[in-house]
Amino acid sequence: MNKKDYYEVLGVSKTASDAEIKSAFRKLAKKYHPDVSKEPDAEEKFKEAQEAYAVLSDPDKRKQYDQFGHAAFSNNGAGGYDFSGFDFSDIFSDLFGGSFGGSGFGFGGNRGNRSRRGRDRLVQMHLTFEEAVFGTKKTITVDTTENCPDCNGKGGHGESTCSSCHGSGTVTTEQRTMFGTFMSRTTCSKCHGTGVTYDSTCKTCRGDGKIRVKKELEVKVPAGVDTGNQLRIPGKGEAGENGGSNGDLYLEFQVDEHPIFVRDENDIYLRVPITMAEAVLGGKREIPTLYGNGTLTIPAGTSNNDKQRLKGKGVQDANSGRKGDMYIIMNIVTPKKLSREQKKLFEELAQTNLEDQEEIKKFNKYL
Ligand SMILES: [Zn+2]
Ligand SMILES: [Zn+2]
Repeated sequence: MNKKDYYEVLGVSKTASDAEIKSAFRKLAKKYHPDVSKEPDAEEKFKEAQEAYAVLSDPDKRKQYDQFGHAAFSNNGAGGYDFSGFDFSDIFSDLFGGSFGGSGFGFGGNRGNRSRRGRDRLVQMHLTFEEAVFGTKKTITVDTTENCPDCNGKGGHGESTCSSCHGSGTVTTEQRTMFGTFMSRTTCSKCHGTGVTYDSTCKTCRGDGKIRVKKELEVKVPAGVDTGNQLRIPGKGEAGENGGSNGDLYLEFQVDEHPIFVRDENDIYLRVPITMAEAVLGGKREIPTLYGNGTLTIPAGTSNNDKQRLKGKGVQDANSGRKGDMYIIMNIVTPKKLSREQKKLFEELAQTNLEDQEEIKKFNKYL
């Protein structure tokens, strides 16, 4: 088989940018998508364009193709790149309103009555720091679609088999050409491929078969989620078509910062302000942790930014259940206002030989 050059298929130059390639593919997909196209060789053209796009939109595959041509992908026996695992959903969803999400493509067959999975929905959810760390239950209102109850999602009343296609959803036409007679099948224009027509359009959904509804949902947020994490709630997305399953609902979390705890994945950082006297002499101090107050032992001779690790006092991982650690960072607070007596004591202290420290002596050597 003499395969057409991928660049030729998409009608772009070899130096085309990613955006040009995407836009060229979108145009072809719009023209040849088997569910909408009236062109006789739509399926073939559409497959060709899909294959070309799957390769050229991937920088690595494009490089391989530029170097070796079709030979780069010819080891699967089909003589072309196998694009069956390629995700086209972002292209098709904005071309056709997203009803293709997750349903995959079937070529041939009776596509008119094919059931389609509903679209997925993404909803942002705001959580306080504590809710994210410990989990919570929340009731949310989701604006979504469900099948119209008046017409059971059909979009009309008084159903009868389409007289043009006799229920098949497709019409076959015969074309005589100099090469012989070709049969080609196109989607029936009277019933738009559904195989049925209705006496009247449903007033409730205006023929859509779907209505917009606000649904209340109780959601259990697991402990340990963080900003950007998504939780999938199966079947709570938009309604499917022709008996197809519902899409999924995805919750994406946005978590507030805490006034003093700083979270880094499952670890917690806490800066503890201590006095100069505590740093020098050591001492004990009550500190907050995620799991209640605890006692911090400050060793004598503590420097600023010295760290202590409290194992297992971090956040419990949402997946593994393993707890992170907590890190205490010492923050020696230098007094800015001193009483006359304090000032006198510091002055007296300064007269003692405080410079007799390794760090200071080492530094002074370079004076
Ligand atoms: Zn029909
Ligand atoms: Zn309806």
